[in-house]
Amino acid sequence: MVLVSPRNYFLYTPLLPGAATGAVEARSIVEPIRRPIAEKGYKYFEAACISVDASKKSILCRAADASFDDKERSEAACEWRTFELEYDYLITAVGAMPNTFGVPGVEENCMFFKEIVHASKFRQEVNERFERATLPGIPRERVRELLTFVVIGAGPTGVELAAELYDMAGPGRAPHCLLIVHWCTRSRSPHPPPWPGHSFPDRPLRVHLHTRALSW
Ligand SMILES: Cc1cc2nc3c(=O)[nH]c(=O)nc-3n(C[C@H](O)[C@H](O)[C@H](O)COP(=O)(O)OP(=O)(O)OC[C@H]3O[C@@H](n4cnc5c(N)ncnc54)[C@H](O)[C@@H]3O)c2cc1C
Repeated sequence: MVLVSPRNYFLYTPLLPGAATGAVEARSIVEPIRRPIAEKGYKYFEAACISVDASKKSILCRAADASFDDKERSEAACEWRTFELEYDYLITAVGAMPNTFGVPGVEENCMFFKEIVHASKFRQEVNERFERATLPGIPRERVRELLTFVVIGAGPTGVELAAELYDMAGPGRAPHCLLIVHWCTRSRSPHPPPWPGHSFPDRPLRVHLHTRALSW
């Protein structure tokens, strides 16, 4: 058996929101796959499948470090970056890509939240904002600007990320902070409800139910 994937580790996504706020360490939620694959006598190639030829029963792969956007240049510059593999049986399990649902500005202005790099980026950005917000003499409006977060979507990822942010700097944790989490969801009720009720007059959390984000 041969496994081909550009990601050489398994990612335990349920704890990704925790990794984004530092509640868990990123290394605790990834498990390298090379060793268990080798122990079973199988092979692993860190590459992406870029085409399938069912008539020849073969796939074309490209090394994971080669840019997807610059196909011709990377192939021409370094031939060994692409290789062909023959197969008897082919199993494809390539997952899904984040969907923007055509909302303008998402690609340019938002962070997706699916991979470990997204959690690291989020953590770095959030930490940086809290550090900046505690500098002496910083105007109150700027603090509010730095610490206002908007979470769009109330699926498990949105719920968990909003909860982690809230736990990180909610009341009692960082009382000087003006953290506000705006949490929008198209549905009438979030699923599952993270807190009893939807109104938190004394807390820095605004839940906007039945609200659709039209652009960013
Ligand atoms: C924040 C978050 C929290 C979640 N929480 C839960 C939860 O609590 N419970 C739950 O059940 N689900 C949860 N999920 C969903 C769960 O992670 C996914 O449903 C699951 O990972 C899908 O598995 P998959 O194998 O189909 O795809 P993936 O896990 O995305 O794996 C696809 C693999 O294919 C590789 N690949 C992609 N393109 C190619 C290519 N061209 N060639 C070769 N390899 C390729 C990728 O690198 C990746 O390794 C969560 C997801 C997120 C983002």
